[in-house]
Amino acid sequence: MNRRQQELEQRVNALLADPANADSPLGQALQEVWSHLHDHLRRLERLTALSDSYQSFALDRERGVGERLDRQLRRVTRIVRISDKYQTMLREANTRLAHSSNRDPLTDAPNRRALMEHLRHESQRAARGETRFVVAMLDVDFFKGVNDRHGHDAGDRLLVALTQTLGEDLGNGDVCGRWGGEEFLIVLSDTDLASARVVLERKTAAARALRIPTDTGDTGATLSVGLAEHQPGEPVATTLDRADAALYQAKRQGRDRIVP
Ligand code: GH3
Ligand code: MG
Ligand code: MG
Repeated sequence: MNRRQQELEQRVNALLADPANADSPLGQALQEVWSHLHDHLRRLERLTALSDSYQSFALDRERGVGERLDRQLRRVTRIVRISDKYQTMLREANTRLAHSSNRDPLTDAPNRRALMEHLRHESQRAARGETRFVVAMLDVDFFKGVNDRHGHDAGDRLLVALTQTLGEDLGNGDVCGRWGGEEFLIVLSDTDLASARVVLERKTAAARALRIPTDTGDTGATLSVGLAEHQPGEPVATTLDRADAALYQAKRQGRDRIVP
């Protein structure tokens, strides 16, 4: 209550207490107005107190909601970060898997699955008249003898060295892979039998010259090769059968040669 209000309060209280005003109609009216005013003031005070307490309650609640939101946000951020990490790991694992499922573990050359995939792709291109290709099936001669004389480890090293030699300076789009055991497959694109034969002469000469060190000196091997030109529209398996039959002929004719 300020000073002016206090003075008014005192003045009105004095007027009401004055016995001269007791019977005056103005005095009675003042008494009524006065008690009305006090009623209103009390009500107003209660309302103000109520509104104050509601405001502080709302403030507390807002603060609580804010903190909860912050916590949730931090949690979500953490989850997103973890999920990103897992996605990266998954992508890397997929890349590794794609590599390992298409590569031979010993030589890191394309494996049979990758070769078959490439052949399917090439045969589709050939069917559209976009390429002609030749398949060369190569088998190491008397490889069992290499293992027997120099050990399995020397045999492995010879296979790795042969892979390197056969894969060197192949044409763009040509693929050399390990068909299995001591057999390799070379797919030569945009080529006919005669040109393929020239390439294979070079490859087999390089393989023949290859020596790998062993406990007792060094060793090497020759290769027999069967060639087959893919006929557009025929199944890849048919081309492979022809190459296999030609390889068999090369073995029968004395090995270290290319048929036809
Ligand atoms: P041929 O001239 O008739 O082909 O005679 P070969 O001895 O090469 O043929 P054979 O099929 O009798 O033997 C193949 C050998 O190749 C037997 C097998 O132990 C060996 N071999 C297959 N895969 C591997 C390999 O990954 N590492 C080693 N060291 N040897 C292998
Ligand atoms: Mg064999
Ligand atoms: Mg062999």
